[in-house]
Amino acid sequence: RKSVVRITTGSQALDELLGGGIETLCITEAFGEFRSGKTQLAHTLCVSTQVPIHMHGGNGKVAYIDTEGTFRPERIVPIAERFGMDANAVLDNIIYARAYTYEHQYNLLLGLAAKMAEEPFKLLIVDSVIALFRVDFSGRGELAERQQKLAQMLSRLTKIAEEFNVAVYITNQVIADPGGGMFITDPKKPAGGHVLAHAATIRLMLRKGKGEQRVCKIFDAPNLPEGEAVFQVTSGGIMD
Ligand code: ATP
Ligand code: MG
Repeated sequence: RKSVVRITTGSQALDELLGGGIETLCITEAFGEFRSGKTQLAHTLCVSTQVPIHMHGGNGKVAYIDTEGTFRPERIVPIAERFGMDANAVLDNIIYARAYTYEHQYNLLLGLAAKMAEEPFKLLIVDSVIALFRVDFSGRGELAERQQKLAQMLSRLTKIAEEFNVAVYITNQVIADPGGGMFITDPKKPAGGHVLAHAATIRLMLRKGKGEQRVCKIFDAPNLPEGEAVFQVTSGGIMD
């Protein structure tokens, strides 16, 4: 039996909401409006995953699949310093790849699985998991095929999480919800439909608060109580 490792988000409030942090062996999805902190949380997890277990880290390497070109290695430096880690060593342990099509994204996962069999990884990030699907299957009548390919990708992610005991952190976009009702202003829901809803074990909804504050709400999680946590985005990463 593999045992779950919980990786700190950098915010105690957010860790408490999550029952200790981002879990290995399953998929955690963060969705929310632009600038709500999804990518900044990914950057913080790149570092905290490498922190020793007794300091709430995962003591492992990180794989980062970037579909939007928003990974910033220079952001890792102050975050590493904040966690008392050597920035160059931390950067060396982040395996980074930019994906340009959904097929490329899928093939990168196959290559990563081979790498994970050899080296101790504890986190796989896909930021964003759905953006390329929305571009590559943008035509009318392509939704069924898109959902089928998306399901394949997500099942691959689940397999990686379970086989290598890694946390999988994926980001998702929000789309207008036509079923939101005429009395709800600006109704939004996560993209990806039931396929994504089914694959992600823990679904987090992020939104902007005052200033640098962000709010995380448990949208769906089988064994977490409903609730919210407030955190900040800082140069040192996610914090209380
Ligand atoms: P998108 O949907 O556009 O990908 P996102 O949810 O990924 O959005 P992030 O990129 O995680 O959003 O958040 C961007 C926000 O993070 C910026 O608006 C800024 O407030 C904050 N931020 C980024 N870098 C820093 C920094 N060095 N110091 C403080 N805050 C920062
Ligand atoms: Mg982003």
